[in-house]
Amino acid sequence: MADFRYRIAPSPTGNFHIGTLRATLFNWLLARHHKGTLILRIEDTDKARSKPEFEHNIIDEMNWLGLTPDEGPIQGGPHGPYRQSERMALGLYTQYAVQLVAAKKAYPCFCTETELDQERQAAEVAHKPYVYGGKCRHLTPENIRAKQEAGIPHSLRFQLPDSGNCEFEDLIRGPLSFDWALLSDFVIVRSDGSPSYNFAVVVDDVEMKISHVVRGEDHISNTPRQIALFTALNTTPPHFAHLPMILAPDRSKLSKRHGATSVSDYRKQGFLAEALLNYLVLLGWSSPLGQELMPRDEIITQFGLDRISKSGAIFDLVKLKWMNGQYIRKLEAPALFEAVTPFLEPTLLSAFSPDLQQKIVFSVRDNLDVLGDINTFVSVYALTQDQYIEKIAQITWSDTDKIVITAWKDWLAAHPTPTPEDIQAGLDHIVTTTQLGKGKVFKPIRVACSGIGNGPHLPDLLSILPTATLIERCTYVLDRA
Ligand code: GLU
Repeated sequence: MADFRYRIAPSPTGNFHIGTLRATLFNWLLARHHKGTLILRIEDTDKARSKPEFEHNIIDEMNWLGLTPDEGPIQGGPHGPYRQSERMALGLYTQYAVQLVAAKKAYPCFCTETELDQERQAAEVAHKPYVYGGKCRHLTPENIRAKQEAGIPHSLRFQLPDSGNCEFEDLIRGPLSFDWALLSDFVIVRSDGSPSYNFAVVVDDVEMKISHVVRGEDHISNTPRQIALFTALNTTPPHFAHLPMILAPDRSKLSKRHGATSVSDYRKQGFLAEALLNYLVLLGWSSPLGQELMPRDEIITQFGLDRISKSGAIFDLVKLKWMNGQYIRKLEAPALFEAVTPFLEPTLLSAFSPDLQQKIVFSVRDNLDVLGDINTFVSVYALTQDQYIEKIAQITWSDTDKIVITAWKDWLAAHPTPTPEDIQAGLDHIVTTTQLGKGKVFKPIRVACSGIGNGPHLPDLLSILPTATLIERCTYVLDRA
């Protein structure tokens, strides 16, 4: 059976980005679906911009999401090291560069930045796409030696065909064709000895035996260059699949100005890992069964490249929040309490026992879009008497409100320690005896007892607040109404 080997290759130049997460998720799902392998390779050759803390962030968030790779800097594996900086230190890229120069597929280029800028400007003036002029393509071995001996710095360029097309089958976009004449011979090793992105990627994909490259569409223009390199290294290129971009609601590229873009931002707001993954998988993919809320195992079973759309997918925060709310409501009370605890203001519920705190949190589950909303919704339980008085100061109570509140107060006096079920029965009893609809009964009771017109499931709220407090508040309202 063919070996399915996927990779994600983030550059640690920023926190784990939501677009990189989507590519990670798709590769992880493909690896799981095909019982293959997912490799994490850290592309940290850009010394100025790469930082260890960004690598830690990527790995931490992958762990939080349960998207751990099979091979990578932490797991190790047979094709390590898995950081390009370490691979570079081992001279791995140099070996391949030497091989390409020996085969006359790459050549030293002594052109200076100034010369190259002049070429670029001339192309601009002539309204032509810039293509490297090939000045160093035909240097004789003597020329080269002389320049090297004179200490002139040089890069290594890879020679592309001058004419014809690069054709390949993209597993999402179908057959694609690129005109070689429009592509420059490109740098594979910079004058400081470091490998360029296109070169390092191909060497690593060869060495790590990658079978499928699944990445964002922004890399599509690199693919012909990379295919040419695979071929020059006498290897079969992997299959390529380019994912549609994630777009902002105005169909522009998703960026910081549209809000949070890093996975950590979403985690800090209180999105659940499962909800974030379920939402992201639907950005560009759809279930053959038309399902939306899907457990991870179900997604793995159904997932495949064949149902990935070619067009960009719009990131819809409202839908993500809705989905997160659905996942929050699926949690049992202990799991919800555990998930919410890091978000809970420590002193807010300290007057309640741990058991009651758990009940309080569970009672507001329907109100939460994100776990970070918790303090807003549980604060109703923590109102001081002064805060309560202030909240109801402006309320005018109708005659029916007074009838309902009186009936409720009497019911409470007869039921000092009611359960939520008792309370539900009590409320239903008042609805029946007063013959006022549910709304006209529930609303004044809620406001009189909590000071707030909306919030937790009413029987939960009324069973958690101490009965004495409820009676005291009803008395306060009736005395002043
Ligand atoms: N290091 C590249 C990036 O972060 C990876 C590109 C690729 O997947 O080939 O965009």
